[in-house]
Amino acid sequence: MSASQKPLESAATIRHDWQLHEVEALLALPFNDLIFQAQSVHRVYFDPNEIQVSSLLSIKTGSCSEDCGYCPQSARYDSDLNPEALMPVDAVLKAAQQAKEQGASRFCMGAAWRSPKDRDIERVVEMVQGVKALGMETCVTLGMLSDKQTQALKDGGLDYYNHNLDTSEDYYSEIITTRTYQDRLDTLERVRDAGINVCCGGIVGMGESATDRAKLLVQLANMPKHPESVPINMLVQVEGTPLHGTETLDPIVFVRTIAVARILMPQSRVRLSAGRKAMSDEMQALCFLAGANSIFYGDKLLTTDNPMTNHDQQLFERLGVRMGGSSYA
Ligand code: SF4
Repeated sequence: MSASQKPLESAATIRHDWQLHEVEALLALPFNDLIFQAQSVHRVYFDPNEIQVSSLLSIKTGSCSEDCGYCPQSARYDSDLNPEALMPVDAVLKAAQQAKEQGASRFCMGAAWRSPKDRDIERVVEMVQGVKALGMETCVTLGMLSDKQTQALKDGGLDYYNHNLDTSEDYYSEIITTRTYQDRLDTLERVRDAGINVCCGGIVGMGESATDRAKLLVQLANMPKHPESVPINMLVQVEGTPLHGTETLDPIVFVRTIAVARILMPQSRVRLSAGRKAMSDEMQALCFLAGANSIFYGDKLLTTDNPMTNHDQQLFERLGVRMGGSSYA
């Protein structure tokens, strides 16, 4: 039976055995059939008119030893970024309070490290505890973790750890050479085994093929447990990074990628992440229709611009969308 003929009542089944040809077939469906299927799956597990909102703060910026080809925070590239040391805890908590007042339910803290030092973890744990005391969920992204560090974060009450796979295993070495795909998978496994929720997705528009996008989705969907959050990023091309000048991805292909992520991981929050600033309101509405139900909110992502908070609020009003909802259905 082809993907388009699959009965809708069984389409929202949670599976971990997706085959590449099935995912490629979903990505290639007629657009209207794909969106219909994604909406049908979405409505089984989520309120279709509710979007979870996370806020993201860079707690340590730039001077990163890694060579991720998209990233202005790498010390290897000549971008216009001002490096900043790990922030004091009180400054982070002030930003979290502000994000809460603007409606964010989760506060994500990102540090530009290959992997943190143990003494860094102590300060991050203080941040996690402070943000939780404000009544928000916490997420951090700190690079590769040791067992001891993972456990310290778990003991500190961390809710989510973000660690993206970025792209397919085949294409990974075209984008990053300073670590392997397996390194990523190992950290993800450590985080999952420690009982921390996983936030894991990728970036599209990096010059990858349609098969690479399908393989990334297969990798995510066939994890023993689906990531609770799946950020799908559109490459933000930053001058000075190797990926600046990459051919722009067709926005419809981006929407298709969101829709297939929704179908493969029916219970996950699919997050419309980087690249939103360059998207029209209509494009974002299409992404929500395709099953995206989480965004980053606030004027900045880690270092790149994000739509202004007020504009997001107006868009939500125009779409009749509410902010909120638990992070995981
Ligand atoms: S994506 Fe993360 S690990 Fe890679 S260069 Fe940027 S900050 Fe470093």
